[in-house]
Amino acid sequence: MNLKGLDNITKNFTTTEAMPVLFVGHGSPMNAIEENTFAQNWQQLGKTLPKPTAILCISAHWQTRGTFVTAAEKPETIHDFGGFPQALFDVQYQAPGSLALAQETQTVITSTSVGLDYNWGLDHGSWSILKHFYPKADIPVVEMSLDYTKTPQWHYELAKELATLRRKGVLILGSGNIVHNLRMINWNSPNQGFDWAVEANEKVKSLIQKKEHKPLAYYSGLGTELQLAIPTPEHFLPLLYTLGLQEDQEKVSFFNDETIYGSISMTSLKIDKA
Ligand code: ZN
Repeated sequence: MNLKGLDNITKNFTTTEAMPVLFVGHGSPMNAIEENTFAQNWQQLGKTLPKPTAILCISAHWQTRGTFVTAAEKPETIHDFGGFPQALFDVQYQAPGSLALAQETQTVITSTSVGLDYNWGLDHGSWSILKHFYPKADIPVVEMSLDYTKTPQWHYELAKELATLRRKGVLILGSGNIVHNLRMINWNSPNQGFDWAVEANEKVKSLIQKKEHKPLAYYSGLGTELQLAIPTPEHFLPLLYTLGLQEDQEKVSFFNDETIYGSISMTSLKIDKA
C-alpha cells in the first residue's frame, strides 16, 4: 500500500461541497489522441471543475459477475480494442490507483459486497477521457465494475450508496454512450445520427431534464428507438450511476450533445448545484 498516497487522500477527505458528477459519452477510442471538439470540451472541463482528490470511474468496458473496484497501486493502461493505429496503442495513462478510495467504496456500499481487484487497470472508457481532463495523470483513479447479472434498476439504486464520496472530493464519472449501436454505424455520416438515434437521445435527455429517472432505469419499456439505441446495457448503465447521484437542488447541464456516425451519441452531462 502507498501510505503517502493514503495520507494525502484522507487528509483531503474533508470537503463539504459535493463534487459535480459526470456522465461522459466516450465514443471512439480515437478521441484519446484526436484534437476534436469533444476532446477540447473535456480539456476545458478538466480546467474548470474543482480539483478532485480522486476519481471513481464506472466504465462501460469493465463488466464482471459481482461488483469490484480496482486496487492496484499503479493501474495498467489497458488497450481493450483492435484495429486502431499504433499511436493509440502507445498511449500510457499513468495515473496512480488508490487503495484508500477502493476501500472507502467497499465501506460505503452496504447492499452488496464489493471485491478488490488487483489485476484490472484502466480501460479506454476511463483513460481515453481522463487523458484530456487531467493530462498530468496526477489524480488517483479507481474503476468500479458493472455487475452484468443485475438489472438497470439495481445499478441506479447502487449509485445512491456512493453519494458520500462526493463530499470527500471524489469525482464520480460514468463513461459510456447514451446511444450506442455499433452494428448500425454509418461511416459515411460522421456528423449526423439516424432519425431513431436522434429521437432516442432526445427522449433520454427530456426525461433527464424532467428528473424522471425511473423510466430510464426501465428503458426497455421506452419504445423501439430506445431498443435500437441500447442493444446491450453496458454503455447505458454508467448514465444510471450518474443520475442516481443527483441531489434535490442539483441541475443538469449537457455538453458534447451530438449524435454521430448514425448510431452513436456523444451527449454528456454534468450534475451540480450551478
Ligand atoms: Zn465504449
